[in-house]
Amino acid sequence: MEKFDVIVVGAGTGGCLAAKTIAGAGFNVCLADRKKQEDVGEKICGDAIGKHHFDKLGLSYPVGAELERKILGIKIYSPNNETVFHVAEKELFGFILNRRRFGQRLLNYAIKAGSTFLELTHAVEPLLEGNYVTGVLTRDLKTQKQLRLSGKIIVDASGFSAILRKKLPQEIGIDTEINKEDVVVCYREIRKLKTQIPEEEFLELYLSQEIAPGGYSWIFPERGNRVNVGLGLAMVGKFPNPKTQLYNHVLPKPLFEDSSLTSGGTWYAPTRRPLDCMTGNGIAIVGDAACQVNPIHGGGMGPSMIAGKLAGETIIEALEKRDVSREGLWMYNPRYMEWYGAKQAGLDVFRMFLQEGGDDNLDYGMKYKLITEEDLLKASMGEDVHLNITEKTRRLFRGLGRISLVKNLREVANLLTKVKTLYLNYPRSPQGFEEWRRNVEELFSVAKTKLKPT
Ligand SMILES: Cc1cc2nc3c(=O)[nH]c(=O)nc-3n(C[C@H](O)[C@H](O)[C@H](O)COP(=O)(O)OP(=O)(O)OC[C@H]3O[C@@H](n4cnc5c(N)ncnc54)[C@H](O)[C@@H]3O)c2cc1C
Repeated sequence: MEKFDVIVVGAGTGGCLAAKTIAGAGFNVCLADRKKQEDVGEKICGDAIGKHHFDKLGLSYPVGAELERKILGIKIYSPNNETVFHVAEKELFGFILNRRRFGQRLLNYAIKAGSTFLELTHAVEPLLEGNYVTGVLTRDLKTQKQLRLSGKIIVDASGFSAILRKKLPQEIGIDTEINKEDVVVCYREIRKLKTQIPEEEFLELYLSQEIAPGGYSWIFPERGNRVNVGLGLAMVGKFPNPKTQLYNHVLPKPLFEDSSLTSGGTWYAPTRRPLDCMTGNGIAIVGDAACQVNPIHGGGMGPSMIAGKLAGETIIEALEKRDVSREGLWMYNPRYMEWYGAKQAGLDVFRMFLQEGGDDNLDYGMKYKLITEEDLLKASMGEDVHLNITEKTRRLFRGLGRISLVKNLREVANLLTKVKTLYLNYPRSPQGFEEWRRNVEELFSVAKTKLKPT
């Protein structure tokens, strides 16, 4: 059995940052992925990322072939397309990446830091000794032979598949399953247009709940006249097929006339608050496997890299202290919550409001500026939304027969602040966890009942 200090399963954005951080401190790291080395980074994704993530992580900006396009802002269309929010704030500056090349850069960072990279290595399940995770059972996809890898700490960074997390025994204390309703299924294509992309430095989002219930459709400009176009919808009830919706409602737009398909595919994003607990004896969970995705726009590259770095730093401390227990790894939880998780949890409330609100309410809300560009920007960045609901607004919406919308928005703003505060006060040790978790459950059950339209 091969022995490592740390085994990271999954060489996506999260796994590479974790491996780079830990190997960079001199530990013996194995980074395993079922993909071939040259395919690492290839993924069904919108490929858009905010510049601020690079600044926070100290990563250089993408250049050359890794950069598809610089982004200056975003256009958000109301469900009936009558209102368009045109937001070009500094906070939204960003990039459309060539995902494969960006993934290759991150993989190279991990390898250069000293990680051993195992390509075409499929993780099958976690190996346990007592109540500790101590290794990973893998299968070599070239030979189909099984290989047991042993590690003092294992990181599950296998993306939405969460291959290890899903097979953990209950005693480890990490949720193995998440609600299907909190998952968005997406169909995405890369298309070459015959026409010029209008305002090619802007991302376009279309909010119709009828077409993309619980999600949205997007058109993101890439290099030349290529676009990344897709549609994601929540897996609630008898949800429609996202590919059918894209073909029936988005691709018939004149922009796509005579366009040609380069590639297409389906994948999933867990658009909810982060897992309540992301550490157990000998294990930490990072990225999509830990549900670290922005619940409103589904962006997960930034948070997964932040989490990879924070988990990596905590793992280094645990190895130095020789304490790889849940307690020894615990601080990764509050550190992530402080850096991104609290914002994410607040946005989960906002997501529920948008999903429950219905197209009419959103049309009215955007048209009459009950929800402004600034609110949406702040909300998507995870900042508190201080709604400016005046007597005039109240009268206007009462007149429109939509006073419940005003009430619900006020409720959202209050709940968002409460949820964020709770997450910022995440317990510093496992002792306070059960009580904290009960408080989370209580707040979210209030959110679910209160945000239903009346
Ligand atoms: C359609 C769509 C559009 C999106 N658009 C955006 C966007 O525009 N911007 C943004 O920031 N985010 C976007 N996201 C989310 C983003 O793609 C993810 O949040 C991000 O890639 C998460 O990184 P990760 O490292 O957790 O997982 P991943 O990047 O998914 O990496 C997981 C890795 O684990 C490997 N793996 C999986 N199972 C196993 C196994 N059993 N054994 C070994 N290896 C395994 C995979 O091969 C993969 O390399 C989008 C997601 C979807 C589905």
